[in-house]
Amino acid sequence: MNTIRHFLALPALALVLAACTAPEEPAISREAQALEDLRILSADDMQGRLVGTEGNARARAYLVERLTEIGVEPVFENYAQSFTFERSLDFRDPDAPRETIEAINLVGRIAGTNPGEHVMVIGAHYDHVGVDEDGNIFNGADDNASGTAGLLALAAAFMENPPQNDVILVAFDAEEGGLRGARHFVANRPEGYESIGFMLNMDMIAYSETDDLYAVGTWHYPILVDVVAAASEVSSINLRTGYDEPTDNPRNDWTMLSDHGPFHAAGIAFLYLGVEDHQHYHQPSDTYENMTLPFFAGAVETVIDVARRVDAMLGEIAAAPSRQPEAVEK
Ligand SMILES: [Zn+2]
Repeated sequence: MNTIRHFLALPALALVLAACTAPEEPAISREAQALEDLRILSADDMQGRLVGTEGNARARAYLVERLTEIGVEPVFENYAQSFTFERSLDFRDPDAPRETIEAINLVGRIAGTNPGEHVMVIGAHYDHVGVDEDGNIFNGADDNASGTAGLLALAAAFMENPPQNDVILVAFDAEEGGLRGARHFVANRPEGYESIGFMLNMDMIAYSETDDLYAVGTWHYPILVDVVAAASEVSSINLRTGYDEPTDNPRNDWTMLSDHGPFHAAGIAFLYLGVEDHQHYHQPSDTYENMTLPFFAGAVETVIDVARRVDAMLGEIAAAPSRQPEAVEK
């Protein structure tokens, strides 16, 4: 009897002890997780994440793993929205032979608690420019492992505390050299999510020596001025507006310079959050070690705050007029 009782009791006791003395690992903080995602996505083994390469596929596999872990539902099978495009083998010669490149956006969905007519799209491109002829890796920590890590942080925040409206998350491929992933997505919206009320784009949110993060798009969509002002008041960094007025110098108008561009061209209100060009922009020195990490952590919190404020008034934002409706094809 005793022996049997011991046999039965020991495993049970072990379970109880395990439950008491070894609780689940404490959840990693949002900031620590974002830093980890940034470090992994910009590591040397991702080889600069150029569209169509193994390094790009490795980054995508990591994103699929993280989206699954966070609990984001795939919109397509395994999140993938594939498309192809043609590229000249010699970019200096348009008549050179062409190659076909396969690109893959990842698209996930978070259900809203009280969804309205529109969805909010939140996106960031995960591709970058790869490795040059001399073997230098362009790690693209700021451009745009940072925005991609921000996308994951936003996904986790919305899973924990759900949005009112349905949210579609997109990790865009093939942004570098033509915003191809975003163009493809806008032209091929997932069934049931055709009506996009707003698009939030993150591209370069990890490097600023002056703690300045720009919210671009308020000039076109004045209803967003108050949203950005309110977020700016509570932000630990400087959230500024600008770089969206028509100007003779195209570098000073970022309206069409990243993945929010094709959404704007389709008449969709947007905010693009990013930093000014800097010494590491499109250089091999755009590495995790060179980022301003406290700024990045502040930028991630700010992006989440902006997304929540937009979610709370998505219907109003979707219905508000843009300043130049004639320039935008609806
Ligand atoms: Zn970029």
